[in-house]
Amino acid sequence: MLSVAEALELIRANVSQLPPRRMALAEVGGCRLAEAVVSDVDSPPHDKTAVDGYAIQFADLRNGCADLRLLEEVTAGALPTYDVGPGTTTRIMTGAPLPMGADAVVMVERSSQPGPDVVRLEEPRAKLGQNIVRRGTVMRKGDVVLKAEHLITPAVVGLLAEAGCASPLVVPRPRATVLATGNELVPCREVPRPGQIRNSNGPLLVASLRQAGAEELDLGIARDDRVALRDKIGQGLDADLLILSGGVSAGVLDLVPGVLAELGVREVFHKVSLKPGKPLWFGVWTSPAGIVKPVFGLPGNPVSTLVCFELFVRPALVRMAGGVATSPPTFAARLSEPFMQRGDRPTYWPGRCDVAEAGATGREVTPLRWQGSGDLRTLVDADCLICFPSGNCQYAAGDDVTVRRLH
Ligand code: AMP
Ligand code: MG
Repeated sequence: MLSVAEALELIRANVSQLPPRRMALAEVGGCRLAEAVVSDVDSPPHDKTAVDGYAIQFADLRNGCADLRLLEEVTAGALPTYDVGPGTTTRIMTGAPLPMGADAVVMVERSSQPGPDVVRLEEPRAKLGQNIVRRGTVMRKGDVVLKAEHLITPAVVGLLAEAGCASPLVVPRPRATVLATGNELVPCREVPRPGQIRNSNGPLLVASLRQAGAEELDLGIARDDRVALRDKIGQGLDADLLILSGGVSAGVLDLVPGVLAELGVREVFHKVSLKPGKPLWFGVWTSPAGIVKPVFGLPGNPVSTLVCFELFVRPALVRMAGGVATSPPTFAARLSEPFMQRGDRPTYWPGRCDVAEAGATGREVTPLRWQGSGDLRTLVDADCLICFPSGNCQYAAGDDVTVRRLH
């Protein structure tokens, strides 16, 4: 059976970045730039004042003091009409253009008005050029202010706006369809009748996708019959990727791999050596336009679904969105209590590490009392998965283990 690392490599090899497109600034947060961005302005566009104060000729200060004649007030957005000459000053607000002739700004807090149109300044430690930001010191017209592949944070959005890039070329957020399969499933707003359970994987996957920066379309529930599955899966293939839950194990109604094959979705692998999540199915569908779309069939047990999303779907999404799917964020920790690992597959066991609080060293991790892949309730207390290698092994408190952070 395929190892987790081999499965990840196959996913990497079969998933590629989405084609870039231009998007409005309001939409691009969290995406990656697909091209470098050049500023069309100097910033600041003019020599400006960094404070509310008085623009002066520095030579007018004697021991830091001067009484000067007030010429005018210039607010941000307005332009000075007078040059500042010897013995005069202009009141100027933060960001406003510096009048010609001025070579320092004294903060308004260091001023008083002894008479009409007379301003007294007292700033013993004043310096030539103080409180002035020169034109183009942040960026010059023609500067490359952002490189391709830069992740678009809120600061980047602000910089794009400043540089005049209203619709940057970006790698769009992947759009994923989510389809839960199973005759036993009812939507969560319904009370399950005997034999039924609520569909928790659909909402779980929608939340996971949003958290991973993807867009989602929830197709609800498909019955375990070929026609229903074919119909819903067909709809799902319109998106950039399709995520199914359930129907990929060895039961008589696990029809998903067969229906995917009928629809021309090429299987890349089925089954990975891990617990939970062994029945994972992965394939690709090539659209008539030649676009290759990943399809994941996640095992139906909710914890298997979640673990497989974290381990396999998330890196695929990162890659589609133009990021580098790095190796998973794992770190070492010490077990807080003994643990018995059993079985022939590597196990991802829910743990609590208080990842956020713990420092870089001395981290301790507690394996939670987990009932297995149907036990989602315990997962809400987990902040990590403890990765135990395959094979039977009795671990002691204090033993080193590898831990993988949960998002
Ligand atoms: P399957 O992979 O379809 O064989 O399902 C494995 C187990 O997960 C079964 O006990 C299902 O009832 C359960 N299951 C499947 N799909 C869901 C779902 N969407 N939400 C909650 N449990 C599910
Ligand atoms: Mg099923």
